[in-house]
Amino acid sequence: CGIVGYIGNQNSQGILVEGLKKLEYRGYDSAGIAVFTQEGLQVVKAKGRLANLQSKLETSPLAGSAGIGHTRWATHGKPSDENSHPHTDNSHKFSVVHNGIVENYLELKEELIAGGAQFTSETDTEVISHLIAREYNGDIVKAVQKAITFMRGAFALGVLTEYEPDKLVAVRQASPLIIGLGEGENFIGSDIPALLEYTRNVYILNDGEMAVLTRDAVELMTIEGNFISREMITVDWDA
Ligand code: GLU
Repeated sequence: CGIVGYIGNQNSQGILVEGLKKLEYRGYDSAGIAVFTQEGLQVVKAKGRLANLQSKLETSPLAGSAGIGHTRWATHGKPSDENSHPHTDNSHKFSVVHNGIVENYLELKEELIAGGAQFTSETDTEVISHLIAREYNGDIVKAVQKAITFMRGAFALGVLTEYEPDKLVAVRQASPLIIGLGEGENFIGSDIPALLEYTRNVYILNDGEMAVLTRDAVELMTIEGNFISREMITVDWDA
């Protein structure tokens, strides 16, 4: 139900959790984050209140300066630790948070299982991480674009891969997503209030658009890969 993401020079865990708190009003049944740590892409997620996630993070904190976070409102698969986002593929090299519904997920799931994928959740979302892993050929942007061509439905996505730890990929297709612009750091969020504590400069994505964030730059393009330019908005109100 809500997405946040960070790539910068600060420790990301606190920023992600604070952003998720701002999205709590949208409703949710579970929450989780994935962060690039020294040991690679690590995920902590928990059914229930954000406090459950926070207490897990107290015992196993995730240190690293890029990550994605999610509050889930279950549509496919009951609320549980396993069904919470972020979701990964069998190599554990990719991590995905998703708002919305992949309408044709059953047919995609069958096809992916036939291709050798092993699913660890009941969600529609997990097909996305397996699809991206399947399509990955050294370029995460191209892999995401290719994966999307197989998916029908509504989605906002945040995607990380261990192969390209200096990139955060965001997609908007019928679920809201905005990009926050900082100094040496950039953000994604489902809405402006989630980011207001950190930046007032934002790009609003339209349906069918995506963004590639690094620490120092944000590139915007259509999901077909055509670069676009967008005027930055400076938010002058408080949440
Ligand atoms: N359809 C996904 C799920 O059930 C995402 C739900 C959401 O937007 O939170 O896991």
